[in-house]
Amino acid sequence: MKTSPIAIFKEKRPVIISGPCSAETEEQVLETCTTIAKSGKVDILRAGIWKPRTRPNSFEGVGVEGLQWLKKAKEATGLPTAVEVANFNHVFEALKQGVDILWVGARTTVNPFSVQEIADALKGTDATVMIKNPVHADIELWTGALERLHGAGITKLGLIHRGFAQYGNSVYRNDPKWQLAIEMKRRFPEIPMVCDPSHICGKRDLLHAVSQQALDMDFDGLMLESHIDPSNALSDKDQQLTPKDLETIIDNLVVRRPNISDEDLSQKLSMLRSQIDLIDDDLIKLLGERMKVAEDIGLVKREKGITILQTNRWEEIIEKASETGKLQGLSKNFMIRYLNAIHQESIEHQNEVMNRTSIEEE
Ligand code: PEP
Ligand code: MN
Repeated sequence: MKTSPIAIFKEKRPVIISGPCSAETEEQVLETCTTIAKSGKVDILRAGIWKPRTRPNSFEGVGVEGLQWLKKAKEATGLPTAVEVANFNHVFEALKQGVDILWVGARTTVNPFSVQEIADALKGTDATVMIKNPVHADIELWTGALERLHGAGITKLGLIHRGFAQYGNSVYRNDPKWQLAIEMKRRFPEIPMVCDPSHICGKRDLLHAVSQQALDMDFDGLMLESHIDPSNALSDKDQQLTPKDLETIIDNLVVRRPNISDEDLSQKLSMLRSQIDLIDDDLIKLLGERMKVAEDIGLVKREKGITILQTNRWEEIIEKASETGKLQGLSKNFMIRYLNAIHQESIEHQNEVMNRTSIEEE
């Protein structure tokens, strides 16, 4: 049994996966892959062969022909290759052409039928599979995809965090929602977690910051798209890096250790952490007290027969707290998210008090 490319995650941090968004021509694949490999900084080559595009009439990939080019790139560089698969036929063709890692794309992870089809196609193989998060922020779908593959006997698994679709304006193409990836790391600590800054950012200028943030959150690797001529790329042209820019980004990453060996530093950190724990305890107690007051208000409202929500009062709270938050260096965005969470909980408490039957009260 040959060693799985997943083994590299035990040897190196971060593992770099790079290559074009899409395989377009034999020259483009070979030139991109051999140039990025020459730097010695890339560990795994990627290329999209079948492209799941959100809108029709955009480039949907070259299909099986591209697998031959990737095979040549692998021979020329000695690096393993990775390809996105979305159905039985993709799995069959990719494995036939010696692709080392298959990945399940974000638009496929959302669909349990497709994931099961891939899992069934993989039964009895020794394949290595990485699973991207689903397009929307549903951690159970991501977990379910992992379970379906594991259920088919696939044990060489990895996860890829590529951010989540959002409605409206944002600096990101896909909102990172880091806490979801961190929750997956908590659920599956043994499975390597790679960040895909290219699809999170959607544009080059954010790639370095997001890559660094992923490393600081102890991700195991990065998937960064690279193209020999990004401005003429047939897909994702704004986010692909030239081989030279890819190298610069990798060179500028600071790799920090997840654990501390220095005794002094470790003591200092543990003191600061206990300070944080104490403050968290106080905050939680205060929140509990706040809810009790909200419940008392609920009782008054119940007695007088008035509704839970008075919009004016809520606006007043947001305004006042945003001002106070600003003085404490807290962003308006954070204050609104924080207040909304508290408000939701308050409403639930009040609702419970107002609709409690007299038997329950006794
Ligand atoms: C890709 O990696 O090129 C791709 C299509 O990614 P995602 O599934 O994350 O959109
Ligand atoms: Mn892409």
